[in-house]
Amino acid sequence: EIPVIAVDGPGGSGKGTITQMLARKLGWHLLDSGALYRLTALAAERNGVDLADEAALVGLAGQLDVTFMPTAPGEPVRVLLDGDDVTAEIRTEKCGDNASRVAVIPAVRAALLQRQRDFRKAPGLVADGRDMGTVVFPDAPVKIFLTASAEERARRRYNQLKDAGVSVNIDALLEEIRARDERDMNRSAAPLKPADDAQVIDSTGLSIEEVLGRCMAAAGQ
Ligand code: C5P
Repeated sequence: EIPVIAVDGPGGSGKGTITQMLARKLGWHLLDSGALYRLTALAAERNGVDLADEAALVGLAGQLDVTFMPTAPGEPVRVLLDGDDVTAEIRTEKCGDNASRVAVIPAVRAALLQRQRDFRKAPGLVADGRDMGTVVFPDAPVKIFLTASAEERARRRYNQLKDAGVSVNIDALLEEIRARDERDMNRSAAPLKPADDAQVIDSTGLSIEEVLGRCMAAAGQ
């Protein structure tokens, strides 16, 4: 069996950064499953599909024309939708919020399931998401649930945006993070929660290097 390290947790817990570092360190493939939900939301916007139109959303999810382009170390993977570079566009708060609305629809999740499993290729996969350990790769030998307090996650996001030259209100960010957590944890389809056999790592107050060290240890590396 091709090994999988499943890393789940709420937005802003550091999963994106950590999974990229883990994949690079191990020389394994990386699945950013959240990008698929973000791309479905973006495709809906571009095609004038209402977020309440479940049948149309399922159609879009099933037919997403996506390319993940590897980049230099430390740079985010570039994401193409229908050949268009949408790397920055799918990272906005609005796209994340719309993604979490699309993600409550069971048939959308089902439409994206096989596409996610296809990322499992030799020598191994690091999978980033909400349901990697519970639904997509329930047999993953290593499952990590990465959390951090909502305040810490808002602070990190605030700093990221500030570095990118975007000015936002930190209280508004905290509200958005809480609203998204609420939606992700309380939906009936694949709610955000640690798998029974996941190792929970709280990154509040830890540096990236410390979190990476704990994840490597959890992965037995
Ligand atoms: O991780 P990211 O912030 O990119 O995910 C965006 C949204 O997509 C999440 O808030 C969640 O609602 C949804 N998602 C999901 N299952 C995943 C990954 C993301 O439901 N495996």
